[in-house]
Amino acid sequence: MAQLILKPGKDRAMARRHPWIYDSAVARLEGRARPGDTVTVLSDSGKVLGKAAWSPESKIRARMWSFDPEAVIDHAFFKRAVAASVARRQRHPGLAGQDGVRLIHGESDGLPGVVVDRFGAVVVMQLTSAGADKWRDAIVNALVQATGCEAVYERSDSDVRGREGLEPVTGCVHGALPDALTIVENGIRMEVDVVGGHKTGFYLDQRDNRLMTRELASGRKVLNCFCYTGGFSLQALAGGAASVLSIDSSGPALSTAERNLALNPSLDAGRAAWQEADVFSALRELRDAGERFDMIILDPPKFAPSAAHAERAARAYKDINLLGFRLLNPGGLLMTYSCSGGIGVELFQKIIAGAAADAGVDGRIVHRLSAAVDHPVGLSVPEGEYLKGLCCEVA
Ligand code: SAH
Repeated sequence: MAQLILKPGKDRAMARRHPWIYDSAVARLEGRARPGDTVTVLSDSGKVLGKAAWSPESKIRARMWSFDPEAVIDHAFFKRAVAASVARRQRHPGLAGQDGVRLIHGESDGLPGVVVDRFGAVVVMQLTSAGADKWRDAIVNALVQATGCEAVYERSDSDVRGREGLEPVTGCVHGALPDALTIVENGIRMEVDVVGGHKTGFYLDQRDNRLMTRELASGRKVLNCFCYTGGFSLQALAGGAASVLSIDSSGPALSTAERNLALNPSLDAGRAAWQEADVFSALRELRDAGERFDMIILDPPKFAPSAAHAERAARAYKDINLLGFRLLNPGGLLMTYSCSGGIGVELFQKIIAGAAADAGVDGRIVHRLSAAVDHPVGLSVPEGEYLKGLCCEVA
């Protein structure tokens, strides 16, 4: 096995158990390793620190599989790691009875580059690092064993694979997909398009926040921006919203949203309206038309994939939130989110405070929101805390 030798002092991150080794931390590789091969990691003084996956094309040159110097990275390793991650979800009471659950959340579950969501009997897997890609068969076998699922579908088509020198890979890797796949999330039936939908097909991270929307929506006139397949919209209707206007720029997502509404006959479809539009201009049109709402949800896509994009992203967040605040009736709620890794919780709160000030409204934070419990944040991987949200009430 090849040996990755760190530069002097670069073993400090290892002591904090941070799983990434940047190219700038690597002194040299002794021996030969192909992309994804396991290498032994050593400090400059020759102390063995653990085992990692080699990613020669990436700035993150290696990702730690284990901080145990004796660890053997083989099929049994993945069987244990996958089973442990699945078992953590099974014993969490907050996930009992959920059809849609994130089973593996990458680094934070000890499996860098591996994301796995379960939708009923179907498991969707996304591999984004050379190491994870190398161990595809071991991971698939372990998933089938740990879940007893009928199908595993691979959605390794995320852009980040390019940075690892990996081509997109999609398709069924075990069993066969059912003709139509739906899940029930807190009483609402939703279609999940694992083949053509965003990411793995559905945004499970917002499950708890969608439920909170339902709890707060009663009697309110709701505006749901960036609605995707209508998750927040349908929960708001279930919570007794007076009306829900939902906006997204994706026609296919809106078609799915309308099918989802039809899948839930107990909801009053007459209270729902859908609009295919760019949210930035739609908010201005609503403002100019003098519209007002009692609850506004802003769940935009990632504006800042990394800290380098933070400034431009901050302007975009400020823009939509300022317009959101202006469109609220007194006592209204702004449920606002950022899933940008490059925007931290503190910065996000500053942006929202600035937006409220510029809109001329007094607001207060009534709930701090984050990703659902099946999206844990490893204490050694604070980067894993990507989704943050604030529920603000205006005077
Ligand atoms: N809230 C959703 C997930 C939102 S994902 C849920 O709970 O499932 C972000 C959505 O924003 C996507 O559906 C995407 O199509 C949409 N989107 C991206 N840019 C947009 C824009 N400028 N205007 C309107 N929608 C946009």
